[in-house]
Amino acid sequence: MDFGLKGKWGLVCAGSKGLGRACAESLAGEGVNIVIVARGAEALAETAEYIRSTTAVEVKTVAADITTQEGRDAAINACPQFDILVNNAGGPPAGDFRNFSIVDWEKALLANMLTPIELIKSLLDGMIDRKFGRIVNITSAAVKAPIPILGLSNGARAGLTGFIAGLSRQTPMHNVTINNILPGAFATETMNGRMAAMAKQSKTTVEEVAQSRLNAIPAGRFGHPKEFGQLCAYICSAQASYITGHNFLIDGGVYNGTL
Ligand code: NAP
Repeated sequence: MDFGLKGKWGLVCAGSKGLGRACAESLAGEGVNIVIVARGAEALAETAEYIRSTTAVEVKTVAADITTQEGRDAAINACPQFDILVNNAGGPPAGDFRNFSIVDWEKALLANMLTPIELIKSLLDGMIDRKFGRIVNITSAAVKAPIPILGLSNGARAGLTGFIAGLSRQTPMHNVTINNILPGAFATETMNGRMAAMAKQSKTTVEEVAQSRLNAIPAGRFGHPKEFGQLCAYICSAQASYITGHNFLIDGGVYNGTL
């Protein structure tokens, strides 16, 4: 299927590794020119080079922290007009909520709620004027089924989800859609780091933590970032113009509910 995206421009935040990178690769595979943002210049350059060597699209990099105003400005100014926005940033730390300070909450809200909203504010009206726009927010399965030790993530991402639920009904008449993808357990650096922290906390090994997580996944495996990126590309496709305001859970069957 031709996704009708050739020649469009996409901004992929936090796109040098993991799920963001997979979205950038899948979109580039559909002919989308890409601007990727991440803080570390080395991984950013490596990802950009990989995409250039495997596709024919143009790739620009912005080495910046997307949670800062300067970072967002640099990202927005990297291209005169964006057709696609993939919102993403690192997740907040785990812990007991009794130990979270206001500053911890401010950081979580900035990364996982306010930065996506600010970027949407900058890009949405141009998309509406041009009658094409696709906005995808990478959130978490924790929005659907909260994870007790991830209170900062549960709270901040639920805030974004509520905001998107309202906004996403105001845009599809302009062929601009806004949706969220909720990852379950995907094999990325972030997840490996979380499992190492859990192993340390519970005085077991990373292998034991990984096995106990796998035991709870009906698919019997962790997700591959590539399959996440492919879902993102479909949601951004021309064919998906009738899909807005949805929360796409991609978790190998972990969430046990009829709806
Ligand atoms: P990852 O593999 O560790 O990659 C994180 C990416 O984000 C890197 O490119 C990193 O590059 C970039 N990044 C982080 N903070 C940034 C910032 N402030 N500004 C710009 N770039 C930033 O992580 P992932 O697993 O793909 O996770 C992506 C998101 O999904 C996170 O919010 C995570 O909490 C959430 N999530 C992941 C899973 C999972 O199983 N993997 C499950 C649920 C939710 P730099 O560090 O160089 O900036």
